Amino acid sequence: MYPHLLSPLDLGWTKLKNRVLMGSMHTNLEEMPGGFERAAVYFAERARGGVGLIVTGGISPNIEGCVGGGAAKLTNEEEVEQHRLITNAVHAEDGKIVMQILHTGRYGYHPKIVAPSEIQAPINFFKPRAMSDEDILNTINDFVNCAKLAAKAGYDGVEIMGSEGYLINQFLAPGTNKREDQWGGSFENRSRLAVEIVKQIREGLGPKSIIIYRLSMLDLVDGGSPWSEVVALAKKIEEAGATIINTGIGWHEARIPTIASSVPRRAFAWVTKRLRSEVSIPLIAVNRINMPEVAESILAEGCADMVSLARPMLADSQWVRKAEENKANEINTCIACNQACLDHTFNMKISSCLVNPRACHETELIYTPTTIIKKFAVVGSGPAGLAFAHIAAMRGHTVDLYEAGPAIGGQFLLAKAVPGKEEYGETIRYYQAMMEKYGVNVHTNTWATDDLLSRGQYDEIILSTGIHPRKLDIEGASHPKVISYVDVLTGKIIPGQKVAIIGGGGIGFDVATFLSHRGNHDDSSEMEAFFQEWGIDVDYANAGGIKKAEPSVSPREIYMLKRSGGKHGATLGKTTGWIHKLVLQNSGVNMWSDVTYNKVDDDGLHITYKNEALVLDVDHIIVCAGQVPNRDLYDGLIAKGFNPYLIGGADEAAELDAKLAIHQACHLAAEI
Ligand code: NAP
Ligand code: SF4
Repeated sequence: MYPHLLSPLDLGWTKLKNRVLMGSMHTNLEEMPGGFERAAVYFAERARGGVGLIVTGGISPNIEGCVGGGAAKLTNEEEVEQHRLITNAVHAEDGKIVMQILHTGRYGYHPKIVAPSEIQAPINFFKPRAMSDEDILNTINDFVNCAKLAAKAGYDGVEIMGSEGYLINQFLAPGTNKREDQWGGSFENRSRLAVEIVKQIREGLGPKSIIIYRLSMLDLVDGGSPWSEVVALAKKIEEAGATIINTGIGWHEARIPTIASSVPRRAFAWVTKRLRSEVSIPLIAVNRINMPEVAESILAEGCADMVSLARPMLADSQWVRKAEENKANEINTCIACNQACLDHTFNMKISSCLVNPRACHETELIYTPTTIIKKFAVVGSGPAGLAFAHIAAMRGHTVDLYEAGPAIGGQFLLAKAVPGKEEYGETIRYYQAMMEKYGVNVHTNTWATDDLLSRGQYDEIILSTGIHPRKLDIEGASHPKVISYVDVLTGKIIPGQKVAIIGGGGIGFDVATFLSHRGNHDDSSEMEAFFQEWGIDVDYANAGGIKKAEPSVSPREIYMLKRSGGKHGATLGKTTGWIHKLVLQNSGVNMWSDVTYNKVDDDGLHITYKNEALVLDVDHIIVCAGQVPNRDLYDGLIAKGFNPYLIGGADEAAELDAKLAIHQACHLAAEI
């Protein structure tokens, strides 16, 4: 089914069983007490799932290179032992694993950071110290020492992190390297650190260790490398002894999305393809590769020799196994939301996954077959109801799932209608497959009443009935101009040319994105529109691969309003909020805070803004004012002697999102 994806890769002295690399992700596990034991179980589960080669999260070769104070490093013999837990566990599952060596340079979040020049990163609070010649030579030794310790710990090799704007990348790019010694100036000098590190690690490890070099093929920043230097570097890295070159896309400080859900699938495979004819060692393509058919197409078209999947391995540890068994429809697809993985990492929490709360919590959330089979009624087929029904049925319970509407999915049916959030449809597809696989009795178009439920002889009733959108509570709230976000996102009402959105939370942003979007693209033009919108130069005429961005302008006049002060977007995810906000700003959406809503009438929405009474003569006022729990069935069931469980929005609507709903549902289903 996936002949390219599943064919082995012969590295000469060893073979990888397929073309799938689990890309490096920082999970914060290594930094917590007992974290290496947990990491061992986490990696072993992915090895058991059949992945060809695993890369660990970044481990620093010295104190200066750490991600933050107290972050993981491998600098001495004492630190080797804990890594053996990981390598032994992966090898026991017939897997292969390399350790990523990451020196953050000016991106480290602590006061000891160093860089080629004393230039502060725009995304960092700390200013780096410029490295002396001696510092640089010591750092090369630290990389070599770290690689040797990794080999001692049993790793099959190392990945050298040379991209994403970290130290090695900072030396390469003229914008961050202003040195005038043998480490700066000419390309020869700027690339010396990268080449020496690879060369000396190869000498230190001998010929039979995997050395991956992650090379920034597209910096996406001003002052980044031109294409000619990307090619020249790749050739030097091959000559220095690297086994494989992995692709790096975009520095962390780049204001261009590279992995968010609005990035089209396989959007950056073209750049790896461009390099492929220039070197003879295998290349790995990256970013937004989340399903086997996407991966297969990249390999079949000759863009790369392997594909890297990072977040998709959090979402489904058995991704490769399912591809092998031709069961792609059973893959729990990464929807590129970043909400439980990267947002957690940057908030110093253990990473996980919105669609799979077991990720990085394999020792805590365990689904075992039940010894006492119970009969459950689950009411409501949003993310919470589907997650509960799936896990409970998988454990062997009997589950009836009631859904009033014609299709399962709940709020995800709305989310998938939002441009850039189409991936949410994959989660519905996954749950549909799970309902069938585990024999959940799905009753769509069925209003579950307390009478119906009391006739079913259920051991337990789970109310996952979700939410009711909060209604507007001002004069004229029932005017026909006032509509709900549900009517907009389902397409029931097509709003006019001038609209006001009440509420600046996640749903307000979704509705503004939906209404400001220019509309239907087929697959190829969607990709082109993305490059154009963000100024990505696929012709690579300019250094860094960037050109002037040409964002599309909203076809509607939109006012997104909120009562509270402060900027819009503060409640959105840390790693994606800036993208949502920039898209709306660029398309001309007006975002007003500190607004008082006075009334609605035929003239429009009457407000007070900046101490001035105004009338927004809008065609529609779309209410996105948060949610209240839908517990319509609760009291009736209590009266009939049941003690139903409330999960998801039915339990807690404030601050609710799908991550919490699925997390709560999976934990209940594991324990009940
Ligand atoms: P929300 O994030 O809580 O936002 C509700 C908005 O409504 C706030 O901006 C609030 O602003 C306003 N509001 C609250 N009470 C109001 C009232 N009585 N009258 C007028 N305005 C009122 O809720 P949501 O947008 O419905 O989102 C629901 C959940 O889904 C959230 O947890 C959200 O994080 C999640 N979600 C996330 C995303 C995402 O991209 N990550 C997307 C969609 C949804 P003021 O009080 O300032 O007026
Ligand atoms: Fe993918 Fe979202 Fe899970 Fe992260 S949290 S792995 S982006 S689905």
